[in-house]
Amino acid sequence: MVLVEKTKNKIKLLGMARQHCANWDNGNCLGCMIKSKNNKLTFRISSKFANKSCQVDKKCRYFDNVVTPGINNAI
Ligand code: SF4
Repeated sequence: MVLVEKTKNKIKLLGMARQHCANWDNGNCLGCMIKSKNNKLTFRISSKFANKSCQVDKKCRYFDNVVTPGINNAI
């Protein structure tokens, strides 16, 4: 039963990433991680994510810190 719930959650998260994440590229991640600190916007390409399958279900900070707030604010 736990496996079913984990699978459902993963499918839900992948659907959200597909629909809302700018890094989504046909199931893979572009790996461009953006963050804002002290009124400065920075980005870097993360080798952990770039050109690999979306890892939204394995703790993606970009999804948690950038994508999710955008969804919640209906951006
Ligand atoms: S791993 Fe994170 S940043 Fe990359 S496509 Fe998935 S949700 Fe977006």
